[in-house]
Amino acid sequence: MTVPIAKLSFWGVRGSTPTVDPATWRYGGNTPCLELVAPDGSQFILDCGTGLRMLGSRWGVPEGGRGHGTHILVTHYHWDHIQGIPFFSPLYVESNEFHFYSFRSKFLGRDSLKQVFEAQMATPYFPVDLSAMCAKRRFKEVDGGDVIQIGENKITARWLNHPQGCLGFRIETPAGIVVYATDNEPGDPKLEENLRLLAADADIFINDAQYTPEQLATTRRGWGHSSWKEGVKIAREAGAKTLVLFHHDPDSTDRMVDSILRNAREEFDSVFAGSEGMVITLGSPDDGVQAHMPGTRTALRREAQFRAKVAGVTEGGKEFEEETVVRDLSLQGALISLAHLPKLQSELQVIMETPGPDGLQMMRLRGYVVRIDQSPEKGRIAVGVVFTD
Ligand SMILES: [Zn+2]
Ligand SMILES: [Zn+2]
Repeated sequence: MTVPIAKLSFWGVRGSTPTVDPATWRYGGNTPCLELVAPDGSQFILDCGTGLRMLGSRWGVPEGGRGHGTHILVTHYHWDHIQGIPFFSPLYVESNEFHFYSFRSKFLGRDSLKQVFEAQMATPYFPVDLSAMCAKRRFKEVDGGDVIQIGENKITARWLNHPQGCLGFRIETPAGIVVYATDNEPGDPKLEENLRLLAADADIFINDAQYTPEQLATTRRGWGHSSWKEGVKIAREAGAKTLVLFHHDPDSTDRMVDSILRNAREEFDSVFAGSEGMVITLGSPDDGVQAHMPGTRTALRREAQFRAKVAGVTEGGKEFEEETVVRDLSLQGALISLAHLPKLQSELQVIMETPGPDGLQMMRLRGYVVRIDQSPEKGRIAVGVVFTD
């Protein structure tokens, strides 16, 4: 019997507007777009932010076909959730077919999402006419409380607390439950109950974490967003297993998101910060939920031989320190072989012996764990870090 596995990819995690500031590159600057491939091959795209363009540029037919097709769930019509649509190249290929789901907005009326397509590509806002978008597009209206069955997967939509409305989606696959709850603010008991219903026993609970709890209590109240603290609270109450902090504020640098993640991890065991390129698999036999990060280092890599001392925190939360040799180094990061398994997205202190003008000198660096791979050396793992200063 084969084990059902679902794959969740993060193509855009930034809230409100894309960022290109180098201080935000580690978590990424594209606005919301997630892709979930269910065990039966059905493909779900959650929101159409600027991350959608990247997904389109990597478009291919998966091995074994695309199950029950591609289903695009749009949470609401704010710019950051729709602006990738005109730049999604598979929409310009006649043989493709897409099923879109979104709600009827009281500001737009019938066929709201279809109208959004037309408006986005209307003259003089876009150079290409809508008629060039020749893929088959089917639109379906969904309302809070609706349940849709697609192949082996059950999707439930519920209203969240956000200006002009926003839907949260719960996708139950045979490999596990993924809940996508972006753009929501605490404070409305009925809609908060919706959030708990969505998140109940979820394997992955993706929640709005745009602001710090302090911002949320003061200057950003009423702006329609949430904080890591609310996410932890709901995850606990609803029995969600892994929390993913999502919709990072455009003004939050990587350092700020690091500290938000650190605070959340102090109060909840399994937390990740949504990161562009991150892939989470569900249902694998050895470990239910596994996160992987992309190869982020684009700089030239050099084979090296530097003795180093590495200190950090393990998966289980224990502090460790060990000596190793760094063999692969670039200006941005290194691949380090370790006997300990550090937590993904945690900080490591790397003290490296490097040759200087007066012989060997100690270089002290702060590394951020972006990937964990098998190592060719027995009993060890290869840990990819990006240096953060
Ligand atoms: Zn948003
Ligand atoms: Zn919004």
